[in-house]
Amino acid sequence: MDKCYSIAIDGPAGAGKSTIAKRLAKELGFVYVDTGAIYRTVAYFLDLLGVSPKDVDGVERYIDELTIGIEYDADGVQHMIMNGMDVSGEIRTQDISQKASLVSAHAVVREVLLDMQRDVAKKHNVIMDGRDIATVVLPDADVKIFLTADPEVRAKRRYEELIAKGQKAVLPTILKEIQQRDYQDTHRPIAPLKMAKDSVKVDTSALDIDGVVTAIRGIVKEKIDL
Ligand code: C5P
Repeated sequence: MDKCYSIAIDGPAGAGKSTIAKRLAKELGFVYVDTGAIYRTVAYFLDLLGVSPKDVDGVERYIDELTIGIEYDADGVQHMIMNGMDVSGEIRTQDISQKASLVSAHAVVREVLLDMQRDVAKKHNVIMDGRDIATVVLPDADVKIFLTADPEVRAKRRYEELIAKGQKAVLPTILKEIQQRDYQDTHRPIAPLKMAKDSVKVDTSALDIDGVVTAIRGIVKEKIDL
């Protein structure tokens, strides 16, 4: 393959990034890279070792002992492999969401993961979602989208997702966690969540999934001749 195309989707938790990115990746035949899952894997690894996500020395000491693999199954679903073990399910808890947000603020963590993310984009056409994809990881991405929604709408989506999975959920608690994560992710000194100057903002508060996919498909078609 000569040129690899890249579509960067950034935004806060619960804006719909992964749902939309997965759908579009399938449609376009692109590889979907969920970068949040990589940070979650780091958080989970440190958690198992009993290292606090705020402990810079501990994070620096143990990060080299972690080997992260990203694998895709026949349906294109991303699996996170932590030192040979598939932890894709284990990393999807509210506790790991918070810890990933704290862990992701450390320079050493961001440096290690930066090359990993760029390597994937060098080899494949990708739709990559996260917080700093358009600003830091792939500043030359062909398409840059900033997907957002009101915190209340995002919290309600998370709540419904958890209930549908049969898990316990309390809406005000989820809203508080989302607001806390938004604050942490936008206020950290390194690669904070912010919209790139050349990103297109899509507010999904009043849109359903089909509406968002249609909007983004249109933006992609304007920029990439597929
Ligand atoms: O997207 P997700 O909610 O799975 O991300 C978990 C956490 O990982 C985020 O709250 C954020 O702190 C961090 N993250 C990041 N940069 C990315 C993707 C995720 O800092 N590109």
